Amino acid sequence: MTVNKMRFAPSPTGNLHIGNARTLILNYIFAKSIGGGLVLRIDDTDQERSEERFYNSIIKDIDWLNIDLLDIKKQSEKTEKYKQVRDQLIIQGKLYPCFESDEELNKIRKLNLSRGRPPIYDRASLKLSSKQIEEYKSKGVKPYWRYKLDHENIAWKDLIRGDQSIDCSTFSDPVLIRTDGTFLYTLPSVVDDIDMSISHVLRGEDHVSNTATQIQLFKALNAKIPNFGHHSLMVQKDGSRMSKRSGSMSLGEIRDKGIEAITLINYCARIGTSDAIEAYQNIDDLIYNYDLTKISRSPARFSFDDLTLLNKKILQNKSFSSVREQLTKLVLDKNIDENFWNSIRANINSVSESKKWWDIIYGDIDCKTDKDNADFLSLAYNILPHEPWDENTWSSWTKNISEKTGRKGKELYLPLRIALTGENSGPELASFLLLIGIDKVSKRLKINIK
Ligand code: GLU
Repeated sequence: MTVNKMRFAPSPTGNLHIGNARTLILNYIFAKSIGGGLVLRIDDTDQERSEERFYNSIIKDIDWLNIDLLDIKKQSEKTEKYKQVRDQLIIQGKLYPCFESDEELNKIRKLNLSRGRPPIYDRASLKLSSKQIEEYKSKGVKPYWRYKLDHENIAWKDLIRGDQSIDCSTFSDPVLIRTDGTFLYTLPSVVDDIDMSISHVLRGEDHVSNTATQIQLFKALNAKIPNFGHHSLMVQKDGSRMSKRSGSMSLGEIRDKGIEAITLINYCARIGTSDAIEAYQNIDDLIYNYDLTKISRSPARFSFDDLTLLNKKILQNKSFSSVREQLTKLVLDKNIDENFWNSIRANINSVSESKKWWDIIYGDIDCKTDKDNADFLSLAYNILPHEPWDENTWSSWTKNISEKTGRKGKELYLPLRIALTGENSGPELASFLLLIGIDKVSKRLKINIK
C-alpha cells in the first residue's frame, strides 16, 4: 500500500498551462522522492465551465510527460458523498444558511470600510431566528451556505514556507455551497483528500488562506491533516504577471513548439529554486534527494527562450532510441539510423528540425553553381577520395584541397558546406559527408565544372 500519496487537482475549464505544469511536476517528483505516488483529481464541480475536451487534453499532457498516476478521480462523480458531509456539518452547527443578496453584502462591506472596520461578514444570517429563516424560504429565497470558522490561529509547518500561522478571525466565514446547491472547491477538496488518504498537498501560494479554512474542515471532520506546501507562483521574466497574451503557454503549445517532455520536467523542477537547472535525460536524477525547501519564496520567472536553450542541451545528448519513434514518424522512413541522429542532434532546437537535415541528405537540394568558387569546387570534385569512405575521409580530403589551393578555415570549408548542403551552417561535415554518400557529393560538386 502506498502510504505517501499526493494529488494534482486541475479544473477542466481550460488547457493546462506552464504554471499548472510546474505544480504537476513538483507534485510528481516530490511524491516519488518520498516513495509515494500521484493521483489525478479532476475538480469539475463547476459543471457549467468544465468541459470534456479539457479533461482529454489534461490526460494527453500527463501522458506526454510520461507521468504515471495511481488513480484518476472526478469530483462530479462524488456529489452524493459531498452532500453527506454537508449534512453532517449542518448537524454539527458548522454550516449555516445565508440569505443576503450580493447587493446587500456589498452595502455592508462598504459600510464597514467607511467606519474603518475590516470588511468581514458579520454573521447576520447566523443570528436569524427559525421564523425569519422560514420567511425567507417561503418567499422563495434560496440560501447559500457558509462555514462557521473557529476564530483561532491555524498553524502548520509548510513544506516550502516553513512555520505558518493564520488568524482565522480576520476572514469572513467562507461560502462552501452556492444558492443552486453546488459546491465550491473548498469542501469537496477536503472530502477527497480524506477519502483518498492524501498525505501531502502541494499547490500554489494562492491557496495559503484556503489552507487555514481547510485545516479547520479536516478537524471538524475528525480527519488526519495532510502536510501542506505552497510554492510561489510563476511570472514573466520581467516580473509581470503571466497571462495568455504575455505568453502563459499551454502545454500543447509548448509541445507543438518542439519542447521535449523531459526538457519541461527539468525546467519546472528547478525554476525558482536555489539549484541550477540541469539537462538530465532521466527524471530519476531529479527525484533522487528532491528538496522542496530549495524553492524560493519569490516568484519563478518563466522564459520561453531559456526553455528553448535547455531543449537544445537536452537534444545534444538525447539517445537515438529515445527519439527513434518520433523521427520515424517525421521522415516516414523506417530505415532511419543512429548515425543520422548522432550527426545532427547538436544542431537542432527541436526534433522536428531533423526533417530539414534528412531532406538535405536523402533528398535533392537546390544545387547552384557558385561562380566565385567554381574552380575551387571543381578541384575538390576531381580529388574526391574513392570509396570506401570512413570518418577520416573528410579531413584527408579537405587537407588535400587545402594543400592544393592554399585555402584555410572559412575560405576552405564554407564553399564546400554550401555546395554539399545548400546551407552556410550546420552539422559537422565529417559524419555528414558519409551520410550524403559519394554519389550525391559528386553530383553536388560536379555542377561547378565548366
Ligand atoms: N482545483 C484547484 C486549483 O486548480 C486545486 C487546488 C488544490 O490543489 O487544492 O487551484
